[in-house]
Amino acid sequence: MRVKPSTKVSLKDYDPNDTGPFRSADEAEAPLRDLREEMGKLQNILYADNRWAILVILQGLDAAGKDGTIRHVMSGLSPLGVNVVSFKVPSDEEKAHDYLWRIHKATPSRGHFAIFNRSHYEDVLVVRVHELVPRKVWKHRFRQINEFERTLEENHTVLLKFFLHISKDEQKARLQERLSDPTRYWKFSVADVEERRHWSAYRQAYEDVLTKCSTKAAPWHVVPANHKWYRNFVVAQTIVETLRDLKLRYPEPKEDLSKITVE
Ligand code: AMP
Ligand code: MG
Repeated sequence: MRVKPSTKVSLKDYDPNDTGPFRSADEAEAPLRDLREEMGKLQNILYADNRWAILVILQGLDAAGKDGTIRHVMSGLSPLGVNVVSFKVPSDEEKAHDYLWRIHKATPSRGHFAIFNRSHYEDVLVVRVHELVPRKVWKHRFRQINEFERTLEENHTVLLKFFLHISKDEQKARLQERLSDPTRYWKFSVADVEERRHWSAYRQAYEDVLTKCSTKAAPWHVVPANHKWYRNFVVAQTIVETLRDLKLRYPEPKEDLSKITVE
């Protein structure tokens, strides 16, 4: 699921229905629970260790499950050390700056997580599909984004980028669900139906993002997301494996604690 740098990505090669080794949601329940628990423990050490910051980026089409992933996966983390940031249509102030300004301000500090619900990638996705800036402007952004992410990576930030991959039929079902359940009406936006008409343009834009911006410093992961439970498992597992690889450790005490008594 990790996209190797400089491979041409074609989304038809990735099955959004994939469920890996599992045959049912039930089978994945206990493993997900264990991963969440381990994530919480590793987060504690990450904080004490104070060397690394973790930046998780979630991208996907409407109803791909960005919010749900945050709810079900990141619930393993203590709110003390996590900042969730949702990037919407830029404000006037944000528009008056370069597109990375608001992003850089939201990046995590050492010991902390930041979870991005949408990100600077919108500036080569929605911006491209709707021609909000001309091609000659956005075409340079793939390189700019790679340079920006590399700078973060070289300065103690670990980047994890997830593309939540759903099929067109699954999106339809989820949007229809929002229309038929009063507790989900609020999630429905007429704009989502409009955006759906641009399905193939978005797909093309995403394929370019995955092809051009999966780097050693900041790899992309294509997550099969038609089954919510498998999506949660894949994201949780990738985060936990990344944290394990950091070889996190509690820092040595600065003085000899054996000589200290608490009266
Ligand atoms: P939601 O994620 O449903 O709350 O919707 C947020 C909306 O903001 C989506 O329609 C995004 O396409 C839009 N958005 C996010 N970033 C940008 C951007 N840089 N330029 C234009 N629209 C954006
Ligand atoms: Mg929406």
